[in-house]
Amino acid sequence: MEPEVIILAKQLIQKPSYTPDDAGCQPLLMNRMGGQGFQGEHHRFGEVDNVLMWHGDEQGPALMFLGHTDVVPPGNEAAWKHHPLSAHVESGVLYGRGVADMKGSIAAMVLAMEKFVGEHPNHPGKIALMLTSDEEGVAVDGVKKFMPLMADKHHFDYCLVGEPSSAETLGDTVRVGRRGSLHVTIRIKGKQGHVAYPQNASNPIFLAAQAIDEMGQFVWDEGNKDFPPTSFQISNITAGNSVPNIIPGELVITANYRYSPESNQQTLAVQLQSLLDKHNLEYELNWQLSGEPFHCQNETFKKALSDSIEHIVGIKPVFNTAGGTSDGRFVAPHGISTMELGPINKTIHQVNECEKISHLVQLENIYLELIKRLLLP
Ligand SMILES: [Zn+2]
Repeated sequence: MEPEVIILAKQLIQKPSYTPDDAGCQPLLMNRMGGQGFQGEHHRFGEVDNVLMWHGDEQGPALMFLGHTDVVPPGNEAAWKHHPLSAHVESGVLYGRGVADMKGSIAAMVLAMEKFVGEHPNHPGKIALMLTSDEEGVAVDGVKKFMPLMADKHHFDYCLVGEPSSAETLGDTVRVGRRGSLHVTIRIKGKQGHVAYPQNASNPIFLAAQAIDEMGQFVWDEGNKDFPPTSFQISNITAGNSVPNIIPGELVITANYRYSPESNQQTLAVQLQSLLDKHNLEYELNWQLSGEPFHCQNETFKKALSDSIEHIVGIKPVFNTAGGTSDGRFVAPHGISTMELGPINKTIHQVNECEKISHLVQLENIYLELIKRLLLP
């Protein structure tokens, strides 16, 4: 017989919840968990559905699971072994868009919470599940807006995000934080002119060349125990020229920082400005903060998760902060210790996204073990 976690994962995968469309995933879970005594609150902002389901009260420790029902589009459907919405099982592996990122985790969280409440209907503290349908998209009408609303009504000590953190085997990697993400557009001013009359112009490409080289070598910080040093990457350079005989008037550089908690927007801006000033450049900077870094330093939470993983799969996880940003960035600033544990990330956002059935069963058991270790005396 198929494990319950797989039956639920299939039901979710079969819904075409391409971001930001929830496509009925949240109503399905609200109905189901409502029948098990969970309370729920749903908010729709724009095209985005958000829901919090919870059980318990304010007395005792409180753990919130966090996930997203939206998935990225399938890409070339013809290249899939099985249709991305068919949730097909082959040789113990479940295929489908979102199975690893992150409908498999959602199914595991739901089953773990239901089992816990079934076994301990009068448990101390609170368990909750927050879901949004806008994680893969612009992430504006999702957790970013919903969390402040819920934080006014609920107290949470811990948040576990179900993002696919595992690398080779389930539970081998836990994210104890994420780097911040900061975009900057640098406009270097020159003077436009005819290429044959360079004495009358000033080429911003030549002006900026040394500074660009230096940006690539610059040490913004050294990182710390859990974080690698801040990285700076240029994603685009353009002088916007469509003809070959013009010296451009401006050079536009688009770049992104993935930064550790040792830096912040202000320190990075000061460093970049002094670098540009050193080369006597005339410039304009435009900053856009995409997410601040977060870093879980709660030893009780870290030990409970590490012990739960070891108890279920027999390995000790590595704690790191690799990868992109996640919705954890919107939860941690509320003073909630936030970590991430989920399926293997090898096939996420790819054609033939898949995860082993055994991994999803183990994940459910780890989540259940974690709830018990955190909530029960
Ligand atoms: Zn995800």
